[in-house]
Amino acid sequence: KYFRTRENRNFSTVKSTENRIFWFALLESTMIVGMAVVSIMGESPFARFRGSKKLYVTDFASLAWCEQQYDYSLTLGRKVTTEMKAGSAIHLDLELEEHDIDEVSIETEEDAWGLKLYNLLFGLEALTTTGKTRELPIFGFIFDIFVFGIIDQVKKSSNSENDEWEWIICDTKTRSRPIRPEKSTISLYVKYQIMLYKKLFDNLANGIIDEERIYQNFNLNADKPFSKNLSELINGHFVENRRKKNREKYSRQQPTLRTIMTMVKNHFKFFRKSSDTLEVNYRYQGDSSDLGSLNFDYDEEKLDKHLRRSTTYWRGLRDPEGVPIEEAWKCQVCEYVDDCVWRLKKVREIEQKRSIGT
Ligand code: SF4
Repeated sequence: KYFRTRENRNFSTVKSTENRIFWFALLESTMIVGMAVVSIMGESPFARFRGSKKLYVTDFASLAWCEQQYDYSLTLGRKVTTEMKAGSAIHLDLELEEHDIDEVSIETEEDAWGLKLYNLLFGLEALTTTGKTRELPIFGFIFDIFVFGIIDQVKKSSNSENDEWEWIICDTKTRSRPIRPEKSTISLYVKYQIMLYKKLFDNLANGIIDEERIYQNFNLNADKPFSKNLSELINGHFVENRRKKNREKYSRQQPTLRTIMTMVKNHFKFFRKSSDTLEVNYRYQGDSSDLGSLNFDYDEEKLDKHLRRSTTYWRGLRDPEGVPIEEAWKCQVCEYVDDCVWRLKKVREIEQKRSIGT
């Protein structure tokens, strides 16, 4: 069973002091907002939209479609379409085929991270026992930036060339028409997304994980015991799965981020490396039917080049770029087309060239 946090996260507050701190908090937040407005123009997208804490896998992948479009989506927001809703519903149905989902109340940031690691451990256990898992949390540092993502599916499969078992990283995409696309049309967005999942998975499997830096990055106390609800959940699950002689020892332990991180690291050693063949599975949004899968190869060099370039945007070292003229068809399906500065600039450039030519 995976666990999500309850809507109303019960972070501890001391009621008797609430009124006294309210006015101070209001004053403080007004100052912070003021400072933010003053400095907003000079801030990098990483600071402005992600608080300089973390990026998501999709933050890198989305830049491959159109950087300008992703920048607009962060600044102006994005319309939630019926296709997106249908896609989310299908993903949830697929996840529920693998495991149940329940809710748990948490109280601290350490709990929130503990829950992520608990779900990761649960997923790894499912992978080793059943050979497949869905919605597996994954993380690591990419060029000093903490990156977090959730892999749609990891599954065990036999390699047709050497008959050995391997772990395939797979992502599910939904389609509005019941037709699987051609292999040549797998977008760079999809490729970079799945390749980055693999890179993060393999790093963890190889023990490349700087846990102290994670605690520092998020200002977490790795030795602070989890709150009662989460401690009971973790102990209940893991004590049950220990060998008898260790059960008593584990039931006496107060789980912390450090203890659960050690379990994650130990469990990951089992996998060593995922397959270099990556998979995209397509589902029809109409009835969720399986349209089949396409495979492509991992390309470390290409991925690193994209990550490096994306990082310069996130760090605010350059402006976002729109699509090149050969990909202008993307603008026809873009919700920001009417006000896009990049497109306007390109149209003017073309007009200027024409007028010089005539
Ligand atoms: Fe990108 Fe074109 Fe949209 Fe502008 S209109 S954001 S260039 S896709």
